Amino acid sequence: MRSRLHPSKRKLAAWLESGGPEEVDAHVIDCDRCAESIEALAVPTPVLSDALAAVLTPPDDLVIRLNGRIASSLQNRADMKMFAELCGVSFPTAQLLLTDRPLDDR
Ligand SMILES: [Zn+2]
Repeated sequence: MRSRLHPSKRKLAAWLESGGPEEVDAHVIDCDRCAESIEALAVPTPVLSDALAAVLTPPDDLVIRLNGRIASSLQNRADMKMFAELCGVSFPTAQLLLTDRPLDDR
């Protein structure tokens, strides 16, 4: 027999997440009001979905900025290799002389 009291929205949200507790499960099976509440909880609100879309959408110029940084990094690596060859030192030694942190040499 189902409980006559409707679970709070918090309990319905918890039920939506985990499927429990059992008394909420037993209640929502045949309560139209709670079924509507659960449907409303399951649909993201436009404000939240808009905010998520704004956060998850990459900026328009991301590819351009990344390509610029990659090109700059490759140029720095080429400059460092040239410096190493001119000075007759290994690439790791040039890294130690020119930077405060080692770069990947792959
Ligand atoms: Zn109910």
